[in-house]
Order: sequence, then structure tokens, then C-alpha cells
Amino acid sequence: LNLLSIEGAEKKVVFITGRVHPGETPSSFVCQGIIDFLVSQHPIARVLREYLVFKIAPMLNPDGVYLGNYRCSLMGFDLNRHWLDPSPWVHPTLHGVKQLIIQMYNDPKTSLEFYIDIHAHSTMMNGFMYGNIFEDEERFQRQAIFPKLLCQNAEDFSYTSTSFNRDAVKAGTGRRFLGGLLDHTSYCYTLEVSFYSYIIGGTTAAVPYTEEACILSRSPLCLNQPSSSQEHQIWKDLLGGYFLACLIFQKDYSVILAYFKVIAPEL
Ligand SMILES: [Zn+2]
Repeated sequence: LNLLSIEGAEKKVVFITGRVHPGETPSSFVCQGIIDFLVSQHPIARVLREYLVFKIAPMLNPDGVYLGNYRCSLMGFDLNRHWLDPSPWVHPTLHGVKQLIIQMYNDPKTSLEFYIDIHAHSTMMNGFMYGNIFEDEERFQRQAIFPKLLCQNAEDFSYTSTSFNRDAVKAGTGRRFLGGLLDHTSYCYTLEVSFYSYIIGGTTAAVPYTEEACILSRSPLCLNQPSSSQEHQIWKDLLGGYFLACLIFQKDYSVILAYFKVIAPEL
């Protein structure tokens, strides 16, 4: 299993996984967009690299993808229902990633801040998230900030479609399992992106997600400029939203200063 590591100086970790469901190809477009953005010269990407470590497993179910399966692995398992007790023999990729995450969680020098599992949705429109429900009301409210920020920053992200649940049927998902394991400073989400289109708030016309828009938004011009007409694609806004969320969650003033140097260098 390939693991990409985009390392900064500090050990605050964002762990991203994609394509646990092999038929959800948009998950790979989003994941590729995140990687391209993170390694670009975009000023926000530079600051993110400076302060955070990104661990990315772009394809959690490579055998399912190779076989053209829609949801299952080679052995016929929906891996996103087996996070509670993955077997090294039956669910090897899941087992490996879970071991790595637990190892990081137990390392006092590492702080696992975010876990985001990228999926695609075959019937819903826009991008949206699933999050967890916690008894602690303050923790629950803090968890809602990130999708709210995404909604403000990405025109194709919908907070209305975002939901928080603890359904028994979702107990074995990465988001639910890690939400139960990690402490109150960590945030775990499933990010869903529509297979086909999004509706911009205040309008009724569906805008298709197209390969051309994806290619355009990945051009060096778009990746390296802080603003561009093509910058409505969810992956860049995801990172911008994440960055803003960091400011609110962590109260890390060095990050806040670095951020303002990017958005308002004249100050
Ligand atoms: Zn899925």
C-alpha cells in the first residue's frame, strides 16, 4: 500500500484516505487535487507544509479498483465496515493503515489532528460531510465548524447535506471508529463528493463536475496563484477551509501570523 508523506517541521498530522470504495472514482480526483495543491507553490500550500504533516493513503482498496469492483475488495468485503477489527490476511490494507494510525496516536511526539476519508456519492449533489455525534456538546459544536467553513469557502460544498450520526450500520467506518478512538482534540470526517454535479446556493441549475474543469484547476497557473476564476474546485477550498479551521481550533498564533502574511502581506 502506497503512503504519501508531505512533511513539515512540526508533528501535527492530517491523515487522508481515499478510494476505500473502488467504484467511487471522484474520490481519486479529489485526492489527486489535494496532493497537487499540497506540493505546489501556492502560498497557502507553503504555509501548510511548514506547519503540518500530511499522511495520505490515496487508495485503500487497490485490489477492488484493479478488479473493477464497485464496493468490495478482492475477498468480497466492504472495507469501510471493518475498521473495528481488520484482519491482516483478509483486510490487509485496512489493517496496515489502522496500525499506523494507532502507532501515531500512541506517539507522544505526534498529534493526529484530522482524519478525512474521501468518498463519492452516486445520488446526492455537491460535496458534503458525515461527522460524529458526541455527548460533549462543546466537542460536537467544534466538530461542526470545519464543514461550516468549507461551506463558506467552497461554492460546491453543502452544509445542508452534511450530517452527524451514530447509526449502528456505520459503526465499522473509518470516521466512526477513529472518532471513538482519538481524543477530543481530533476531528474525523467522511468527505463525500457527488458523482456528477453541484448546485450553487441561490440557484437551481446543476453545474456538472467535468474532467476539463479538473484539468484546468490543476494547471500550474491555478495551483500557484492565490486566487483564480477556476478556484471553485472543492479540493483547494477544502485546504483553505482546513487552514481556517486550524486557526480556530488550535489557537496557534504562529500559524495565524503566517496566514495573514499570505492573505494580506501589506499588514
Ligand atoms: Zn463510499
